[in-house]
Amino acid sequence: MSRSGKWHESVGAVHLHSDFSDGALPIPEIADIAAEMDIDFLMFSDHNTLEPKRRGLECWHGNILVLIGCEINDPDDRNHYLAFQIDREIERGLSAYTYVRQVHEAGGFGVIAHPSERRSFSDAYPPYPWTAWDTADFDGIEIWNQLSEWIEGVTRANIAWRILHPLRSIRFPVWETLERWDSLNRIRRVVGIGGIDVHAHRIRILGLFPVQIYPYKVQFRSIRTHVLTEKPIRGLTGEVLPFPEAEDQIFRALRAGHCFIVNRALGDGRGFQFRVESGAGIRIMGDRIPNGSLHTFHAEVPRPGRIRLLRNGQVIQTENGDRLIHETRLPGVYRIEVLRRKRGWIYSNPIVIE
Ligand SMILES: [Zn+2]
Ligand SMILES: [Zn+2]
Repeated sequence: MSRSGKWHESVGAVHLHSDFSDGALPIPEIADIAAEMDIDFLMFSDHNTLEPKRRGLECWHGNILVLIGCEINDPDDRNHYLAFQIDREIERGLSAYTYVRQVHEAGGFGVIAHPSERRSFSDAYPPYPWTAWDTADFDGIEIWNQLSEWIEGVTRANIAWRILHPLRSIRFPVWETLERWDSLNRIRRVVGIGGIDVHAHRIRILGLFPVQIYPYKVQFRSIRTHVLTEKPIRGLTGEVLPFPEAEDQIFRALRAGHCFIVNRALGDGRGFQFRVESGAGIRIMGDRIPNGSLHTFHAEVPRPGRIRLLRNGQVIQTENGDRLIHETRLPGVYRIEVLRRKRGWIYSNPIVIE
């Protein structure tokens, strides 16, 4: 099948900071930049504040759908958590377990941010990893965080190169995170999203003068999250779905795992498909289906790459080209990774055969 009849693709930039916390620009200016970048929606997560939502900034800004959540942290500034679809801030100073539960109970969509962050090059920018794994109340994890990857790879020897070529510093999601994501999905659906964690402020590293490592415009060409919605949020002639409905479409798709992550620096990923055909009909990434029949997986990419099909974290088939087909009767967590120029390009959410 082609999914074109049923699913509509929208491209988002997720995990953004504005001047409501430690980002450099106001939300409307950031939306104006995104409007020139072939992006459909933005998900802001300023630290511990929903003030932009109260001020009515969660709406359509021209053709850009702006969604507003916040990033929560514990008293040790660890366990950063992106919370969307909540109306009030979570009280500060709580443990991660408590705020993860509270976001869930408030009906929010919660995503663990930069779970495996490990950096040691500067005391001024310590890592903020996730440690509170003993909870099942979160909805997703950030499988790729662009800022973490950039900072983690910085050394005195390469810093100048990395400042000059920020997009070329993006290589792969952290293996440990992918491994954990695969094992979580054997138990329940945990959605993978890609975050850019853009601040665009100047940072002082390794005792050098402060540099703006990533303007928003550059960041918007890096990690993107593509979602597949039932209705198009924007029509071909520019008309848009009314705000609450558009918001609902995006979060329904995210919660269902109908999404994939693209490193835009290696090419536009629009049109990527990953689906399975079986006795249960045709299902797409994010779906969980019962076993009991022959399942045929199809992956199609908009331009050639090295396509890998993984089952429970192990690569079981690789194709160089623009499609991969795989038949199986085995249960497991199946997902696709596509590489280009020896770097990670597209990461699908899994299809799970129970
Ligand atoms: Zn954070
Ligand atoms: Zn952040």
